[in-house]
Amino acid sequence: MRTAAERRNLTDLRREEHRQAHIQRILSGLKSSFVGNDPGKNSAAYFFIKSFDGRKRRVIAAEFLGAGFDRSRINYPVVPLSTVDQHPCSTCGAEQPVIEQYLQTEDSPDGDTWLKEHFVLCFNCNGLFTDIERWESDGRF
Ligand SMILES: [Zn+2]
Repeated sequence: MRTAAERRNLTDLRREEHRQAHIQRILSGLKSSFVGNDPGKNSAAYFFIKSFDGRKRRVIAAEFLGAGFDRSRINYPVVPLSTVDQHPCSTCGAEQPVIEQYLQTEDSPDGDTWLKEHFVLCFNCNGLFTDIERWESDGRF
């Protein structure tokens, strides 16, 4: 029989495992979401963001491309990580790269829903999230 404290610890561990798995999906998305031709359609896509001429655009950090990756396959600007948009962590205040999560959340004959969220993931704070902004649309954006 597990004690209540042991059960609580297991719940905390599982929650931490889910959080770490989520962070891994984000990091691997930042290295691969640009490859598909319909990002966000079948699974969440992740991009860095850079403001050009007052518009926030999806970009790829050069550091996240594998060595020798064929850049002609990429339809997004490739920029140094140090130049992407940043936002302060709400816990420690450190500036971190803004990440966009983009995905289709509803796919039905009555209408679709697409979700776009900007957030930062703080590596000073062991991967704490700070939400910045969130948009919903009935079409891709
Ligand atoms: Zn922080």
